[in-house]
Amino acid sequence: MANLLVDMRDQQFNLYEMLDIEGLSKYPKYAEYSKDLYDAVINEAEKLAVNVIEPTNEIGDKEECQFVDGKVTVPKAFHEAYKKYVEGGWITISDDPEVGGQGFPAIIGISSGELFSAANFAFNMYPGLCHGAAKLIEIYGTEEQKRTYMDKMYAGQWGGTMCLTEPGAGTDVGAIRTIAKPIGDGKFKISGTKIFISAGDHDLTENIVHPVLARIEGAPVGTKGISIFLVPKYRVKDDGSVGDFNDVNTGNIEHKMGIKGNSTCTLNFGDKDDCVGELLGEEGKGMRVMFNMMNEARLGVGVQGLAHSSAAYLHAVNYASERLQGADLANFRNPEAPKVPIINHPDVRRMLLWMKAHVEGLRALIYWIAYCVDISEGTEDEAEKEKYHGFVELLTPICKSWGSDMGFRVCETAVQVYGGYGYTSEYPVDQYMRDCKIASIYEGTNGIQALDLVARKLGQNKGANFINFITEITKTIEGNKGNGALKDAFAELDSAKNTLAEMGGFFAQCGKEGKFLVPVGNAMPFLELMSNVTLGWLLLWQASIANEKLEAIKKDKGITDDDWAGLVELYKDNKDASYYQGKVAAAKYFSAYVLPHVEANAKAIKKEDMSIMEISESAFAQI
Ligand SMILES: Cc1cc2nc3c(=O)[nH]c(=O)nc-3n(C[C@H](O)[C@H](O)[C@H](O)COP(=O)(O)OP(=O)(O)OC[C@H]3O[C@@H](n4cnc5c(N)ncnc54)[C@H](O)[C@@H]3O)c2cc1C
Repeated sequence: MANLLVDMRDQQFNLYEMLDIEGLSKYPKYAEYSKDLYDAVINEAEKLAVNVIEPTNEIGDKEECQFVDGKVTVPKAFHEAYKKYVEGGWITISDDPEVGGQGFPAIIGISSGELFSAANFAFNMYPGLCHGAAKLIEIYGTEEQKRTYMDKMYAGQWGGTMCLTEPGAGTDVGAIRTIAKPIGDGKFKISGTKIFISAGDHDLTENIVHPVLARIEGAPVGTKGISIFLVPKYRVKDDGSVGDFNDVNTGNIEHKMGIKGNSTCTLNFGDKDDCVGELLGEEGKGMRVMFNMMNEARLGVGVQGLAHSSAAYLHAVNYASERLQGADLANFRNPEAPKVPIINHPDVRRMLLWMKAHVEGLRALIYWIAYCVDISEGTEDEAEKEKYHGFVELLTPICKSWGSDMGFRVCETAVQVYGGYGYTSEYPVDQYMRDCKIASIYEGTNGIQALDLVARKLGQNKGANFINFITEITKTIEGNKGNGALKDAFAELDSAKNTLAEMGGFFAQCGKEGKFLVPVGNAMPFLELMSNVTLGWLLLWQASIANEKLEAIKKDKGITDDDWAGLVELYKDNKDASYYQGKVAAAKYFSAYVLPHVEANAKAIKKEDMSIMEISESAFAQI
């Protein structure tokens, strides 16, 4: 079964040839799982994604959500897809069996999630947000809250959201004004307005549970005074069924550039002073609680970037292989020469290889992070747990921001590959590009992710996470010292890795000297630098495996490197050989064309140029 959503061969390579996820069964948590089970799950996910969810993608974009008489409806086609998604138990694929989950490793959840996200991201947000909100209750809720809300949310019977943003509080969450007044018995009257709430209202489920950030009357200003409340759209009767309306009013839905099938709502809590919520966790710990959901959501946004770019790339390759335009370069002076598919033209190949390197680099990054989650949750060795959890912490801002920024650029390049047709709604790539753009904005804008990386993550755990990461890259380089075919590419990676380590030290020194504006003003160029080193490392790690396997196939078939005709035949007939050749080519390309940017970024940062602060506001433009 072939699909144009996710390169399943590449997914398998990540799971079994690079990461050896079968080895996870040495941990008691995953002892009962095997390759057969993993493959069966992924196979089912692919069927659901391709046959049921993908057909709703364009429908969602065209029909959008509707807001009539205060009620929000999603496109009709979403209902059947949601039913099948829930029936398949996909919401809790990687959750503990104790809460009704299937207990699969996170990497299997990510592998199926990539398929669903590529099939229709706007749709996938409904169960995704529901899962994130239920997870908060699993971690912080009382037994009663778990039975009242979590069970029904994990079962897909009720939906969930995350309610942070307000008109005056976007990036600056500490400025929220929503108020909670205690009314006794652990209950509060909630009043305030939240905006841009994804899946904030819809008709997929009979109830929606909103985790809402609010300030208890009299609590201090800023983030310290924020608590989190569970606020259902409909109250819950003693027998657990849906009761009266809880005064959670939808004011409007946004008309957006993309993810049009997902309702983005303004929610007014307590218009009639009759909205009741209950505290989740401790008073004043709202941000800490919500961060659990935000970290999951940030990895989810990375998956969004990967999924859109994966689908856009596969469509672009497919189109470029079919679209005839112009003659082959060898015949360019001959007007009678046969027309060739555009995939023959060097510039189109350049675009496709740039896209391939980034899509596969992002997949390697996100799958490796999921694998680190699995090790950190599976192992009982404290040092190992800390090390792998440290990688997740360090690289979450890179997954979120590089996944979304590069994901968008891959989609944009797909439009370019299609030429004029890419700019029309006749082909799907314009939707992938529009749907992808939001990923760099929500869940903390990418500028904020870069600040998080520089100001918090680099120095976290006394810098040990960063040092462990550099050590991990060094190990791969050391292991490939004698790798002739990839010698130059590894040398470039070695130099880029040294630059990354040096820049970590440079920022630490700036901090000691009180020159905070240097790391703060250069947070994004640094994130770019570190992301390029990270992707370069992962791509070369993969290429070293692929190259060895390719050489073995060539040897087996008796084909040498100077046997041009033999190689052409091999790549045409042998799927493994052509796959491995692609892996090596993508890594070499990335090393030659992208890794040199690491040095350029470092050079720019070290100049300590402060033009961005020196320019006066009025000098940006005379308006
Ligand atoms: C489709 C959609 C879905 C959304 N879903 C949800 C949801 O489910 N729940 C929810 O709570 N919110 C949601 N949001 C809100 C989203 O998280 C915010 O839009 C985002 O956090 C940015 O806030 P803002 O729009 O107010 O922009 P602002 O905070 O005004 O930021 C504007 C620009 O200024 C920059 N900036 C602001 N402050 C700083 C700073 N201190 N340092 C450096 N740069 C800064 C930002 O990076 C950005 O580039 C959604 C938004 C959209 C559009």
